[in-house]
Amino acid sequence: MQKVAIVGRPNVGKSSLFNRLIGRREAVVADFPGVTRDAKEGLMLYHNHRISLIDTGGLWSGDEWEEAIRQKAEWAMEGAQAIIFVLDPREGLSAADYEVADWLRRLNKPVIIAANKIDSPKHEPYMAELWGLGFGEPLPISAEHARGLDDLMDRVLTHM
Ligand code: GDP
Ligand code: MG
Repeated sequence: MQKVAIVGRPNVGKSSLFNRLIGRREAVVADFPGVTRDAKEGLMLYHNHRISLIDTGGLWSGDEWEEAIRQKAEWAMEGAQAIIFVLDPREGLSAADYEVADWLRRLNKPVIIAANKIDSPKHEPYMAELWGLGFGEPLPISAEHARGLDDLMDRVLTHM
């Protein structure tokens, strides 16, 4: 089973993306951070690939960078072939985004930058900043409006 993890600080749209890709409202979606307490796993089919998708949810609860939380996140991502790093470029990069980025660099797995909440082409200029994370070309998506999801999954498949 191929495994793909969705990571990012709270409120960037991880659960929205998970739900959109899984096609069910399985994960909790909410306006405030920290609602999804545990990692959620769901199955998706894409071009004949069965992919186990993991919403790492509340494993990244902002300021808490204790060892236990980090280990739980690492456990959830064990065996993942690729990681979708979700960001909200309309909000700009925050310290929490950079902490996640540093942590992902140490994991040494393929990372795909999903620039979420790019609901229309007029939001695309916000994406330029994301090149600075050092993970290559950011892909514009909108979990809410189902934009860019095929391009995102095509990129994921290059790592499988
Ligand atoms: P999580 O904490 O990373 O799991 O984020 P959620 O999926 O709970 O989403 C946080 C907020 O962002 C919710 O209010 C969502 O409705 C909103 N959101 C998620 N995706 C999009 C999107 O593509 N466009 C816009 N405009 N809002 C979004
Ligand atoms: Mg969530």
